[in-house]
Amino acid sequence: MASNKKLLVLPGDGIGPEVMGQVRRVVDWFDKRRAVGFDVAEGFVGGAAIDAEGAPLSDETMAEAMASDAVLLGAAGGPKWDNLPFEQKPERGLLRLRKEMDLFANLRPAICFEPLVDASSLKPEFISGLDILIVRELTGGVYFGEPRGIEDLPDGSRRGVNTQVYTTAEIQRVARVAFELAGKRSGRLCSTEKANVMETGVLWRQEVQKLGDAEYPDIELTHMYADNCAMQLVRNPKQFDVIVTDNLFGDMLSDEAAMLTGSLGMLPSASLGAPDVTGRRMALYEPVHGSAPDITGQDKANPIASVLSFAMALRYSFDLGDDADLVEQAVNNVLADGFRTADIMQPGMKAVSTTDMGTALVAALDALAA
Ligand code: NAD
Repeated sequence: MASNKKLLVLPGDGIGPEVMGQVRRVVDWFDKRRAVGFDVAEGFVGGAAIDAEGAPLSDETMAEAMASDAVLLGAAGGPKWDNLPFEQKPERGLLRLRKEMDLFANLRPAICFEPLVDASSLKPEFISGLDILIVRELTGGVYFGEPRGIEDLPDGSRRGVNTQVYTTAEIQRVARVAFELAGKRSGRLCSTEKANVMETGVLWRQEVQKLGDAEYPDIELTHMYADNCAMQLVRNPKQFDVIVTDNLFGDMLSDEAAMLTGSLGMLPSASLGAPDVTGRRMALYEPVHGSAPDITGQDKANPIASVLSFAMALRYSFDLGDDADLVEQAVNNVLADGFRTADIMQPGMKAVSTTDMGTALVAALDALAA
């Protein structure tokens, strides 16, 4: 058996512990049934960490995250901690992880599971078979650029400023992730910016093209303005394979693409850092949804987004594409068998709890491996 992979599980707040409980069952299944072993540690993040350790992420947990092969996170935040000062809020735990692990590439897939094809707001023919991946730059751009702020003007009015800024290195490192991923998929990459009106867009386009010409001549690279990309995603999403874009446009395009296919309870994500000398990358996997205080503690939450996030860890941190496929196939089979948590319930289907969905997923894995 290969050496064990080190996983840090941070269930967090609200439904986080409920959905991560089901992920643990899937991790255990792989530990027992496949040629991959995991050493799983668990820690606190968010409000749970504030309550247990006095800060939204302790130094010990941060150090453990840095030493792990992958971090699996549930969700952070909730009404109990809403009135804390900004610096002490649960979400700061998540921001600290992203910053100190330098997670600059955010991966958001939009995959249509056939049994849910009718749940989309688009016609089935547009999304049936859809499988696209948006790579968003996560640590630069207008959300972080200086100068920023709100200032008072002499005439008594005010001015708000944010700065969009990108360097060659920032563009190249996220583009490199996208080229590599495109190479493992259908070999097509669409780079998206606003080169028609923004200098950062011109630089983005030039640098991505330069990198493609120099290092990835086999990848079919196209460029598209971000506003057109937003339109094309609802007009004909299947024209895309991998899309790479900056922080601001990626924020919107990844939400748009993800919602083509379904509910928040179905959407996974990965955030990756740069590879070290051994090729190991810092990596954080988490569902797109939050802590869902309205359904917390009711065994109602859909664990599939978190389970699919673990599948992304198998694929991107451990290079276990077949095992990731197995998880995705199990999700598909469970949906095809009619199992639905409340958020994806459809007429004639079987309403199940969080725990029942976990049980069905493990049974589907058993059946696939038999
Ligand atoms: P949310 O994603 O928690 O919930 C939005 C809606 O979707 C709710 O009606 C919820 O019940 C439903 N929902 C979400 N996940 C679901 C699941 N797995 N299964 C079934 N239904 C699901 O967003 P919100 O209500 O805006 O935020 C709640 C809290 O979560 C806030 O404190 C917010 O700051 C935090 N939050 C955290 C993260 C994170 O940890 N990454 C992300 C977003 C929000």
